[in-house]
Amino acid sequence: MDDREKQYEEFYTVCKGCVKCRLRAGATQVVPGAGNPKSEIMFIGEAPGKQEDIQGLPFVGASGKFLNEMLASIGLKREDVYIANMIKCRPPENRDPQPDELEICADWITQQLEIIQPKIIVTLGRFGMARFFGPKRKISEIHGKVLYREGRAHIALYHPAVALYNGGMRAQLLHDFKVIKLILDKYHTDPEYFALKAEKNEDAVDENTAFIKEAKKVNQQADKNEPANNEPQDQPGLF
Ligand code: SF4
Repeated sequence: MDDREKQYEEFYTVCKGCVKCRLRAGATQVVPGAGNPKSEIMFIGEAPGKQEDIQGLPFVGASGKFLNEMLASIGLKREDVYIANMIKCRPPENRDPQPDELEICADWITQQLEIIQPKIIVTLGRFGMARFFGPKRKISEIHGKVLYREGRAHIALYHPAVALYNGGMRAQLLHDFKVIKLILDKYHTDPEYFALKAEKNEDAVDENTAFIKEAKKVNQQADKNEPANNEPQDQPGLF
C-alpha cells in the first residue's frame, strides 16, 4: 500500500465516523465515496438516496445504473473513476441539504480532492456545480462546459436522476458526457493544456465545439497534404 492509499484509508475511516451535523442522526450510515482513489476523474453528486444509504455506496440506485451506462459510452468503468457526493449522509425524505450542512460536509470533499488529486472534476447536479462554478450559475446555461482552475478541468453536468423522468435529458447527458472523454484525451496528449487554460482563468469553455473545429482543421490539413488519388474517378463507393 503506497502513501496515497494509506491516506485514503485513513480519510475513509474518519469520515465514516463523522457526526459533525444533524444529518447523521437520520441516516443509516455515512457514505464517503467509492472507486479508484488514484483516478484522474472525480464525479461529485449531491447526496445519498435510499439505496445509497442502505448499501453505503454512492450512485447505486437507478441513477447509478444510468451513470454506469454513460461511463460505458465513453469506454470507462466505475473502477476507473472516483465517485462521491457533496453531502455524505442521506437527508430525511431526500430533502435538499441546508446551507450549513453543505458547508460543514464540504470539508470532506476538500480532503478527498487533496488525496485523490483528480485532473477532471465532473459535478452532477446543483450542489457540486454551485461549489465549483459559483452559486449564481445556472446548470441550464453551463452544462457540458468546462471551467479551468488550479491546473484542473471542471465540467458541470445535469444529475443523472433528471434523465429518469425526462427522456430528452438522457440524450443531453450522453452528449455532454462526451466532453469528459475529449478532455481526458486532451490531458493525455497535451498535459500542459490545463495549466495554460487555468492561467487565463478560462471559464464556461465550449470544448466540444472547440475540439470539433480543431479536429476539422487537422483533417483539412491532412487532406491538403495527401497525395493525389489515383483511383478511377467513376469507381462506385468513393465520395
Ligand atoms: S452529512 Fe457530512 S458533516 Fe454531516 S454528519 Fe454526515 S458526513 Fe458528517
